Amino acid sequence: MKIFEALEQGRRWTEDERMLLAQVDRLAKEVIAPNAAEVDEKSAFPWANIKAINELGLNAIFVPEAFGGAPMSFKVYLAIVRRIAEACASTGIIYATNFHAMKPLIEFGSQEQKSRLLPCIAEGGLAALAITEETAGSDATGMRTRFRPDGDDVVVDGAKLFITNGDVADRILLFGKYSEIDDPRKAISVLVLEKGTAGFEVAGLERKMGHRGSSTASLRFDGCRVPRANLIGRPGDGLDILLASLNRSRPSIAAHALGIANAAFKDMVAYINERKQSGRKIIDFQANQFLLADLASDLAMAELWLDRLAERIDAGEKDFGLEASIAKMRASDVANRVATEAVQMHGGYGYCSDFRVERLMRDAKITQIWEGTNQVHRQLIGRSFATK
Ligand SMILES: Cc1cc2nc3c(=O)[nH]c(=O)nc-3n(C[C@H](O)[C@H](O)[C@H](O)COP(=O)(O)OP(=O)(O)OC[C@H]3O[C@@H](n4cnc5c(N)ncnc54)[C@H](O)[C@@H]3O)c2cc1C
Repeated sequence: MKIFEALEQGRRWTEDERMLLAQVDRLAKEVIAPNAAEVDEKSAFPWANIKAINELGLNAIFVPEAFGGAPMSFKVYLAIVRRIAEACASTGIIYATNFHAMKPLIEFGSQEQKSRLLPCIAEGGLAALAITEETAGSDATGMRTRFRPDGDDVVVDGAKLFITNGDVADRILLFGKYSEIDDPRKAISVLVLEKGTAGFEVAGLERKMGHRGSSTASLRFDGCRVPRANLIGRPGDGLDILLASLNRSRPSIAAHALGIANAAFKDMVAYINERKQSGRKIIDFQANQFLLADLASDLAMAELWLDRLAERIDAGEKDFGLEASIAKMRASDVANRVATEAVQMHGGYGYCSDFRVERLMRDAKITQIWEGTNQVHRQLIGRSFATK
């Protein structure tokens, strides 16, 4: 593990950051990881983990001070996501989704909106980001949810699918099309829906391969009246806000995937240092040393790329969409490879749920699908080399 210890030591945290990360490490080890198997087995929302996360005030680190937060760097936020996901991928995505959903409000909302809608999140509320629909998956512009202005309200009709935290969120960042704008791309708009709004209902919850502790809800909106004051930006600003938001959530998804990869790598190394066959430890077979070398290199490179990206974002750079795509695509591919090989190195035991790698392999898969499938990211990255 020397490579990874050196990598961590090379990260220059401030004293405050170091102290917070040490607290997160303790939280991950003492609370979140011990709950993870049961959360998965029972498909139970991990309320105890969320309570413990909120006792540390981890939502506050991405909320501006003026709205109840205690902001820290994006790099620290990513380090926290990675640590929580390493302990429990479900809890990791619940926490990260609060950030994904609220960052656009923080960046594009008015002062009035932020002072009204953000303190609840800084105090530990949950948030959801609702983009996907039956007709709008990889191509979000196919969405059909309709926003119709009516006096001081916007009336929402439509449905969303696969919404993480959708059933438990206090705030839902909801995308739809403004009825008064004809061009379907230019019509995309975004508003914040508050918990308990009449006309909004949770239509169902998915049963999933992995991330079973994180809820994935289908939502229905039927004449749902949202105050016009909750519309972020102007009608039609939605697509720009969406694209800008994905540039922040993709590095976050990469950090989450690397958490899963780290857990799988550690379990694999521990197991093959113990297990013996033909009178030798499994790690003593050269083929397996080569495998470890390849996986460790891929993991270290993905970590370094994400560190570099986080530093650029913290420095205020704006143009990093392709780098974010590379981070998301590569980290999720690495997570899947490491988790699959970790199962392989456990032999038959890896296929059984007594060992954590079985869950990690199931948890890893979705990281190649959400926040833009990896095919879509490959297309974006590859297309960038085409001459005009
Ligand atoms: C557990 C879970 C949680 C989720 N959480 C959220 C959430 O919180 N909020 C939210 O809005 N959404 C969420 N999603 C939705 C997720 O982002 C979408 O599932 C994803 O974007 C893919 O859309 P789709 O499922 O409709 O697949 P499709 O777009 O139908 O894709 C099907 C296949 O076609 C391929 N494909 C599509 N277009 C192209 C192309 N241009 N080039 C090459 N191949 C292509 C895809 O890569 C994929 O392999 C979640 C999904 C899941 C399963």
